[in-house]
Amino acid sequence: MKKIALVTGGSRGIGRATALLLAEKGYQVAVNYVNNHQAARQVVDEITARGGTAMAVQADISSEHQVVAMFAHIVATWGPLTALVNNAGILFEQSTIENLSAERINRVLSTNVTGYFLCCREAVNIMSHRHGGQGGAIVNVSSAASRLGAPGEYVDYAASKGAVDALTTGLSLEVAAQGIRVNAVRPGLIYTEIHASGGEAGRVDRVKAGLPMQRGGQPEEVAEAIVWLLSEAASYVTGSFIDLAGGK
Ligand code: NAP
Repeated sequence: MKKIALVTGGSRGIGRATALLLAEKGYQVAVNYVNNHQAARQVVDEITARGGTAMAVQADISSEHQVVAMFAHIVATWGPLTALVNNAGILFEQSTIENLSAERINRVLSTNVTGYFLCCREAVNIMSHRHGGQGGAIVNVSSAASRLGAPGEYVDYAASKGAVDALTTGLSLEVAAQGIRVNAVRPGLIYTEIHASGGEAGRVDRVKAGLPMQRGGQPEEVAEAIVWLLSEAASYVTGSFIDLAGGK
């Protein structure tokens, strides 16, 4: 059976590392992005240069019709999807609750929560035995913020990741008998652009001393866990969470 994966936000950071590793493991990889076509193109070029198969797919995961069109395009091009990595997420600057606007909260939730739900829905429609599918696996990229939080930081973001955890548990139960496994990873402080663009450049280095392992993580370290959860090696694992947070 062909292994066909979609990585949302596969153009940069954790998504990029995951897309590259999946390709190395023999998956055909759809690299989703929203704005940065060049970054997505680079990931695709890197995969194809190493003999793999990849395509860039532009879609804003918070838009229902764009998500539907993205899945339809992948299936029409390659056939049924077997793996989904729900990874694309956003984070705005640190803020106490007094300064949170409804607009900001809704933007975070529509990408980090509604976007994950929509992609899960489309994946289940393709993979589920009930719909004639062959089964598959989903990994949701949550965050250590869902269980740790931090005063005055990103409570909207932490809440969105709490919803991702609940989605993971609930959906894993709902689709276990349909041949679909649903798990999550919860990274801690990882060296990616998310802290430079939305949060704070240099944040990982500023706070890493407070971690038991006293260092930030690399996107590749998160990718290893995601790819394992998607693999046959994890065939009896569903509804599980892997914390990749340096011991915190
Ligand atoms: P990143 O470097 O900022 O990259 C974000 C990726 O998501 C980019 O590929 C971006 O596409 C894409 N994206 C953003 N909004 C999108 C949308 N509406 N539709 C489709 N794609 C969208 O992020 P990262 O740090 O790798 O984070 C990836 C995931 O890990 C997120 O869910 C984040 O919450 C989680 N996480 C990260 C950390 C960390 O320390 N970095 C820790 C815990 C959890 P463009 O390139 O087109 O902009």
